Amino acid sequence: KMASREFQMEPSIIKVGNTEIGSGQVQIIAGPCAVESRENFLEIAKLVKEAGATMLRGGAFKPRTSPYSFQGLEKEGLEILAEARALTGLPVVTEIMDTRLIEMVAGFADILQVGARNMQNFFLLRELGKVNKPVLLKRGASATIEEWIMAAEYIISSGNNQVIMCERGIRTFENYTRNTLDLSAVPLIKQLTHLPVMVDPSHGTGKWKLVEPMAMAAVAAGCDAIMVEVHQNPSEALSDGPQSLTPERFEKMVSKIRTIASSR
Ligand code: PEP
Ligand code: MN
Repeated sequence: KMASREFQMEPSIIKVGNTEIGSGQVQIIAGPCAVESRENFLEIAKLVKEAGATMLRGGAFKPRTSPYSFQGLEKEGLEILAEARALTGLPVVTEIMDTRLIEMVAGFADILQVGARNMQNFFLLRELGKVNKPVLLKRGASATIEEWIMAAEYIISSGNNQVIMCERGIRTFENYTRNTLDLSAVPLIKQLTHLPVMVDPSHGTGKWKLVEPMAMAAVAAGCDAIMVEVHQNPSEALSDGPQSLTPERFEKMVSKIRTIASSR
């Protein structure tokens, strides 16, 4: 299989703008769950950059559990992401929910994120195999490691080998946390595949107080990137406030994970 270590021994390095994922330096992707407004996003983009973020995140199309919840700013959200990239110089990551949106989203984003809910949307995976942009493939909430790797295989075998694997927690009997963050996935994916591994401790725990310790553990376990949700005012966030760090807490987390990264 093309994702496997047998197929390719050397770890894949994914180039994104002036940065690289998988080359040893830990990339830090930060931003709100959703792009909520132009003012709000441009401000948080500047704040997370000053605090040490190396890439920006923000959803323009949101896969919400309820159809009555905020669904994202759609195309306007993508334009705001592009403006934030121009302002900060940082690459932007955003979710691609459907094949019909690939052309539009790929016209704005530097990395296309496949959300946990779409991990086995094989038609979408195949279409992303035809795009010349890195794909961030989140683990499905009930996907085994094998199923997750096979999802990556769909993208790679369709022609795009720029795949980043993102552990974001799986559903277990434990419901004190939103998901159970499976950090064993980090060394496992590295042993089984040549793909870079990212960890999202925000969706992985659902609680901001758990984000910093889990980010530190993820870096100690050898991940290539961390993705976290940051909001100026988490209690007012349109989605995922309880798991969002303030810019101040984000800055503290960055300095802690940089210390761990430099000693590994
Ligand atoms: C997200 O990162 O915006 C998101 C919706 O995450 P997940 O697909 O992991 O739930
Ligand atoms: Mn979110």
